[in-house]
Formats: sequence, C-alpha cells, structure tokens
Amino acid sequence: MPEYINCSSCSEEITEDSDYCPHCGIIFRETENSVCERHAPRQASGVCIICHKVMCPECCVKRQNKVFCSEHAEIEVQQDWALVYQSTEISESELIKSILESSGHKVLGQNFNSIGFVWDGGGDSPISRSNINKPAKVFVPIPEYFEAISAIEEWKSGQSPL
Ligand SMILES: [Zn+2]
Ligand SMILES: [Zn+2]
Ligand SMILES: [Zn+2]
Repeated sequence: MPEYINCSSCSEEITEDSDYCPHCGIIFRETENSVCERHAPRQASGVCIICHKVMCPECCVKRQNKVFCSEHAEIEVQQDWALVYQSTEISESELIKSILESSGHKVLGQNFNSIGFVWDGGGDSPISRSNINKPAKVFVPIPEYFEAISAIEEWKSGQSPL
C-alpha cells in the first residue's frame, strides 16, 4: 500500500511516491522526464492539470494555486472538477448534464436551483435567470475533461447537421 502525504502546495492527499501533484500540478521530484516540453533540457516545475503537459516555470500558468498550460489557462476549475458547459438557460445545462451522464461521466451541476426567490409567483422565465446572471454550470472530473468536451461536441454536431 502506498503511503499518503499532503501536497506542500495545495494540501491535497497524494501518494508518497508521486513525482507531481495531480491536484495542483506542482512537480516535487526532478526526474529525467521532468524537462520542459518546449524548452528541453530546461527543468520542469509543473504539469498542466488538464492535459499533463510538462513545463518549466516560464511556461506554467498559475491560477488558483494550480498549474495550467497556456492553452488551458482559461478553463474554470473547482477542486478536481473542470467546467465543460454553462448556460443561463437551466434547461440547456440540464440537457448537457444528462447527455454526459448517459455517456458514463460523473457530473456536478452548479446553480441549477439556487435562485429560489425568483420562482415565487414569477414562474419559470429565462429572462429572470439571465437578469441575475448566474449561469447553470456543468462540471466533470478533470481526468474526464477531454472526453466530456468531445461528447458535447458530438451531440452538438448531431443537433445541427450541415
Ligand atoms: Zn498539490
Ligand atoms: Zn494543458
Ligand atoms: Zn518552458
């Protein structure tokens, strides 16, 4: 059984023999593989938590104490979840959520029902939702990010055939 320790950067639990932290992307151990993909042989200091690209400090984009590559720096993450879809139309987000669930993904929804006061007497109106400007967000576990995105793309292309 591997021993568990806490990451010195994000305090998440990781196995003691980890070369890097999968939660925040910090590299702990310099190995022959930990050279920057763009600037080899420069030593790498981090791994993109989305695509696992190995990068030197110059290439790492740090946000929320996590490491991203420049390509994935804009992706919204919460803990170990990545945002794959958001819409102020809750029904749209719900649809995407069920599509992902039916293709086997773990899905987390946010702001799907956090607007109780709007419903009082007002009924279900898209306008009231966009007014309060809180999109319903759909998250998947970070390791499932690319699969989930392509599942959504696939669904979208089926929706509007050329
Ligand atoms: Zn960490
Ligand atoms: Zn990346
Ligand atoms: Zn680099």
